[in-house]
Amino acid sequence: MTAPKPLVAGNWKMNGLKEALSEFQAMGKGYGAELQSAVDLMICPPATLLYTMSVSAVGSGITTGGQDCHQNASGAHTGDLSAEMLSDAGASAVIVGHSERRADHGESDGTVKAKAEAGWRAGLIAIVCVGETEAERDQGATLDRIGSQVAGSVPDGARADNTVVAYEPVWAIGTGRTPSAVDVAEVHAHIRKELTDRFGEEGAQMRILYGGSVKPGNAKELMAVENVDGALVGGASLKAADFLGIAAAYG
Ligand code: PEP
Repeated sequence: MTAPKPLVAGNWKMNGLKEALSEFQAMGKGYGAELQSAVDLMICPPATLLYTMSVSAVGSGITTGGQDCHQNASGAHTGDLSAEMLSDAGASAVIVGHSERRADHGESDGTVKAKAEAGWRAGLIAIVCVGETEAERDQGATLDRIGSQVAGSVPDGARADNTVVAYEPVWAIGTGRTPSAVDVAEVHAHIRKELTDRFGEEGAQMRILYGGSVKPGNAKELMAVENVDGALVGGASLKAADFLGIAAAYG
């Protein structure tokens, strides 16, 4: 069985004005043929930059994605974006269930699942995020929490080519702290088992990303962990040198 091709995806969150596109162009310049054959790269910019970035991405090998979508295709939902709109703007994927959305917008597993299905409806890959809080880890509840989030957020019908799962411990996001390689391996093995129990070979081939304070300095160790098929990167995806430094873990 061959391992899935790794994916390093950057989540720019609510960062980036037009001038930040120069960083994206620098990423494209540094993403040569050898790296392209080793790892897929994606940037999920704020929606305001998605179309321009997607145009600028043509020929670079880097794909673009949205950071969230509404579950409906259209309608009276002021301020929201549908998956179809993201696709229309050039996205090939959408992040759903990021912990910041779960916390700031009260998104439940059921909502996240509906958003993942909306992404599929529009032809997007759904990047489904799960992760425990620090309190849950301290209580020894990590695997139960992750198990229930995967069960509740990943829809039936998930395949290796339409779904990516991102394990992002909430306490590691933007903090500079990361779990040990042993802890990452334990959680990723747990997710892999859930996915293969439910989806068989598709689950075995589905990419499971690690996210939370991934930097050029720790990427090699984290990306070498069994069942880690790439990274979801926040802060370090804003600068080409850092993002390419992380991708170089596969170079
Ligand atoms: C994230 O929010 O998806 C993330 C991983 O952030 P950071 O890399 O900044 O911890």
